[in-house]
Amino acid sequence: MKIIAFAEQRDGKLKKAACEVVSAARMIADQIQGEVIAVVIGDTVEGIGEGLSKYGAHRVLTVSDPKLKFYSPTAYAKILAEIATQEQASVVMMSATAMGKDCAPRVAVKLKAGYAADCTALRIENGEFIATRPVYAGKALTDVKFNSQVKVVTLRPNVFPVKTYDGQQATMEAVSIPLNDSDFAARTVDVLQGSGKLDVAEADIIVTGGRGLKAPENFAMIEELANVLGAAVGASRAVVDAGWRPHEEQVGQTGKTVAPSLYIAVGVSGAIQHVAGMSSSKYIVAINKDKDAPIFQIADYGIVGDAFEIVPALTQELKKQLGK
Ligand code: FAD
Repeated sequence: MKIIAFAEQRDGKLKKAACEVVSAARMIADQIQGEVIAVVIGDTVEGIGEGLSKYGAHRVLTVSDPKLKFYSPTAYAKILAEIATQEQASVVMMSATAMGKDCAPRVAVKLKAGYAADCTALRIENGEFIATRPVYAGKALTDVKFNSQVKVVTLRPNVFPVKTYDGQQATMEAVSIPLNDSDFAARTVDVLQGSGKLDVAEADIIVTGGRGLKAPENFAMIEELANVLGAAVGASRAVVDAGWRPHEEQVGQTGKTVAPSLYIAVGVSGAIQHVAGMSSSKYIVAINKDKDAPIFQIADYGIVGDAFEIVPALTQELKKQLGK
């Protein structure tokens, strides 16, 4: 069985999500003596695919074309579907990043494949490929079996461990897929750099503030705590809707899905739509003055108290402990 693992890159650098997808593909391949074919797409990506050997790729295919300087959903979907067809691959894996969520359904349509989005576990059972994904805003997990010959899955970022394989040397192959104007339904002409802040979707530690912070200026203490921990700042929808924080920081059903090692929720009630976006976090710490707030039901550590007393004290103590 061949597994295509789409390895996302940005500005010539592989994303962490790429390493997760290749490692997950290898974990499945090892159970069925399968082959992991990592695919890297961009304008000049020949050099960067080599790094994927150590995450378990057996082969790395690079598709370089100046027309692919920026992401194009239609062109990327064409490339991945053509490679999957040429290779007679059984599974196409991508990360459930913004790019993966956009591209994967298009690949599935082209391949007439079954599609499971935002999976949190994969396994082979009695020779069958099974994907587990959260449903009902994370309230339940469902196992998806596929009737189609080809299966397309996206993997929730930060859930699948990155594994390294010493001595693994993938074969590198440059592949050419002819692209014409009709393959680009819409064309990105430029990408403006954001603030350079750590993205919640990629951060290993997130400090999120909610309406309990009372006013936008009080996020200064959240930013300070995040700084000390090297964390990203997250926000509940209530504070984004109020215009206190930018939408890119929103965690939840209509924001980003995150799964960091540590998630600190400050003045966040833990509404189901918020929890849907962060319940896969490894450790959850909640600071809330209401002992009955729903966030405490999923928290590993809970502090009942006033955020305006606890957060500055926590920041000071962490500064001392971390020598900052
Ligand atoms: P609140 O619910 O108002 O909670 C504030 C909390 O702060 C309370 O628990 C309170 O006890 C605590 N508090 C107050 N003062 C202090 C203090 N001094 N110290 C400590 N704690 C204090 N929400 C999201 O977050 N993300 C989403 O993606 C999202 N998508 C949605 C999609 C839909 C279709 C709908 C209907 C809703 C969505 N929501 C989403 C909104 C969600 O239902 C909640 O309204 C929202 O999450 C509440 O935000 P909050 O916890 O910051 O505010």
